[in-house]
Amino acid sequence: MRILVLNGGSSSLKATLRDHGQRAPLWEAHVEWGREPGKAQMKIGGGKAQTRTLDIESPRDVLAPVLATLPGTVDVVGHRVVHGGVAYRETTRITPEVKEGIRMYCEFAPEHNRLELEAIEEAERILGDAVPQIAVFDTAFHATIPEPAWVYPGPYEWLEQGIRRYGFHGISHQYVSQRAAEMAPCARLVSCHLGNGASLAAIRDGKSIDTTMGFTPLEGLMMGTRSGSVDPGILIYLVRHKGYGAAQLDRLLNRESGLKGISGISGDMREILAAIGRGEARARLAFDMYVHRLCREIGGMVASLGGLDALLFTAGIGENCPPLRTAVCRQLSFWNIRLDEALNARTPEDADIAAPGSAVRVLVVHTDEDWEIARECVRVLT
Ligand code: ADP
Repeated sequence: MRILVLNGGSSSLKATLRDHGQRAPLWEAHVEWGREPGKAQMKIGGGKAQTRTLDIESPRDVLAPVLATLPGTVDVVGHRVVHGGVAYRETTRITPEVKEGIRMYCEFAPEHNRLELEAIEEAERILGDAVPQIAVFDTAFHATIPEPAWVYPGPYEWLEQGIRRYGFHGISHQYVSQRAAEMAPCARLVSCHLGNGASLAAIRDGKSIDTTMGFTPLEGLMMGTRSGSVDPGILIYLVRHKGYGAAQLDRLLNRESGLKGISGISGDMREILAAIGRGEARARLAFDMYVHRLCREIGGMVASLGGLDALLFTAGIGENCPPLRTAVCRQLSFWNIRLDEALNARTPEDADIAAPGSAVRVLVVHTDEDWEIARECVRVLT
């Protein structure tokens, strides 16, 4: 079965073609837009990629040129859809009713669901009705979280309005937890997905029982440009005394906070590390806060699990930043977590980097959301 996986963000789209029996992609394309009005950069292929500039009126226009370069036919299209809300708690074949549901949840995740819906409609238009399309929701893995962990302690009416914890990065947490189970015994696992966005999942026997992101992907950890959790009283203060409106708060908390807001340099961890190397104090503070908040939240996840067998690092920072893993494991050394520093420094892919005497396994796992989406498509169709 040949599966086309579409994984889009607010300023990029990744498309890969997979054969379900084969892990390596048969073909891949990556398109980015937003830097120059009316233009998008399309890269086809892996290492020696071909690049092309596309003229676009809206992000909707990128899919046709991407699909024009597809080698051969497609049997199914798998879409990463960020928000499945209350209605979609598992991978679902796309029908007109499902599209309506995804449209409804645009209110909860405006940047994502709207673009994902456009990609679904474009794929339908280009490939026709004969090719089934499947939605794999980033919220679905967290459907197993128990009620006390997903209800917010606001008014009870919030529940009726769908205001509750959903959790995100579910496709990644699902993939890495399955990979972890192949690598080490880990009935009680804390998965740390640390990319530009960042979240933790407390996973017991392969099922999510708690997570740090909530109603939106803004809650929880400090991130690249997102604040993560802050006192909501700050927002009331800004509205009441500084004249802030929704759009300004949105920009402030989603784009001007986190590593970028504190360092004043960038939301990119590589640039933070470089600035620390130059002795810049605000970059140091940003890194130390990142570690502090990460450890605090890991503590919360471990309390939900009632103990810890394995701590897992994944995504851009989790997989590639040895100083971060060292700092976290040092802070948590009271649990008798011990790193093999030489292994940690080498940043191996899919490895246990704990020292032999460690009471907790420390795993580095390369996340592969697209492969997980492809597997979900096969599972639903067969
Ligand atoms: P996204 O959430 O957009 O998928 P990624 O998972 O690619 O993001 O993660 C991006 C983050 O990973 C950035 O902060 C980047 O600096 C960080 N990163 C990538 N490589 C390294 C590295 N070698 N050392 C430290 N951080 C890294």
